[in-house]
Amino acid sequence: MKARVMESVPRDLRHLWHPCSQMKDYAETPPVKIVRGRGVHLYDATGQCYIDGISSWWVNLFGHANPRLNRVLARQSRTLEHVLFAGFTHEPAVAYAEALVRVAPPGLTKVFFADNGSSAVEAALKMSYQYAVQKAGKKRPLFIALSGGYHGETVGALSVGGLPLYRTVYSGMLMPVRFAAAPACLSCPYGKTPVSCDAECLSSLKILLRKTGADRVAGIIVEPLVQCANRMNMYPPVYLKKLRALCDRARVHLIADEIAVGFGRTGRLFACEHAGISPDLLCLSKGITGGYMPFSAVLATQDIFDAFYGDWHSGRAFLHSHSYTGNPLAAALALEVLHIFRGERILAKMKPRITQMGERLRALSRHPFVSGIRQTGLIGAFDLVCDKESGQPFASRLRAGRVVCRAALTHGALLRPLGDTIYFMPPLVVSEREMDRLFDAAVKALGALGTGRARGRGDQVQK
Ligand SMILES: *Cc1c(COP(=O)(O)O)cnc(C)c1O
Repeated sequence: MKARVMESVPRDLRHLWHPCSQMKDYAETPPVKIVRGRGVHLYDATGQCYIDGISSWWVNLFGHANPRLNRVLARQSRTLEHVLFAGFTHEPAVAYAEALVRVAPPGLTKVFFADNGSSAVEAALKMSYQYAVQKAGKKRPLFIALSGGYHGETVGALSVGGLPLYRTVYSGMLMPVRFAAAPACLSCPYGKTPVSCDAECLSSLKILLRKTGADRVAGIIVEPLVQCANRMNMYPPVYLKKLRALCDRARVHLIADEIAVGFGRTGRLFACEHAGISPDLLCLSKGITGGYMPFSAVLATQDIFDAFYGDWHSGRAFLHSHSYTGNPLAAALALEVLHIFRGERILAKMKPRITQMGERLRALSRHPFVSGIRQTGLIGAFDLVCDKESGQPFASRLRAGRVVCRAALTHGALLRPLGDTIYFMPPLVVSEREMDRLFDAAVKALGALGTGRARGRGDQVQK
């Protein structure tokens, strides 16, 4: 048994190229082979159990091998696994679109399916661009995005991404995008707190929009409340409220990328609800199938949909497709996810867990290497610093975040750093005991930093 376990890793490295990885790192620390999952736990080939502290890259909502989702997937696979979605339809897609529109922010009545987050962003950008051409007969060639934003890795999605780590090497092949400074609440340049904040920092975007000329901008794309890949950079709902008003005045689309923050992570089904706003286009993926299958949706307003409606010869159609658009297995899972949210009162049950996470994070604030504690719903984060007083980061060559997360594994918690930021994004169904075990493991793992006297500058972060 043990021999087979050992041998499976070189087999992996012989042919596989892992995502978002320097493959050379695996020569020293091979990938952990997971053989099964149950609830919030994952089990490796040696039987060691890990609590999934980051929902397997922000996708899992209701635990691994969830009995209800398993049942729905098995049932749907016996009935219809796939059919092309142009000219054909099926009940899981119809029922899901109905259910999704019912719970989505008001005004978003049209549902376009794609099959992963990046492709949902691509579709939303193309819709926004084509809308301008067809509505006013005039090109609006630009998009505005926020620094530090993350919208996926395909070329269009990467173009609106504001993280140099992912985009710099491709800069020659990206489309033109203007970037405004993202909110920076951890050290607010206006000296405000999230409570006293009036979104003063939106001025960066306002000035940019004026300078660029609003009539040259198709849309503004943001991640509501949390820029997850940007070290969990969090900002209050008032920013979204004012951004919505700005987009209305400038007649520019507001594109909300809720691929990570949607489906309950912030304590509401959608993050936009905290601000009481509706975007013009809403991108959803990740948790949409509870973490079971790649699937995504772009929700659009009737106004946007209407700009594409006409005779075939008008050339107004949205001729965008993916082979697996509207896949019945994924749609059936997505529908069951909404049933589970309602039937099992998931959002209500999360409330004490959100409070508990807050308490555990606050307790960590006394730790000598912990700074910048922040939380939105069931997403919590802090930064590792080697000197609390000055906020001095660890030397980047130490890869302190990686050191802590490697240690967390040995204490039974799956965490993955964003540079030297450690964050927690457990499945929404995490129990009180499991949350405690997750934080206990993280606290123990901080011990791996020793006394942390080494000094140096921080570095760019890797998702
Ligand atoms: C993960 C993510 C994406 C990209 O989704 P993929 O399915 O990985 O292509 C886009 N936007 C945000 C906010 C994300 O977190």
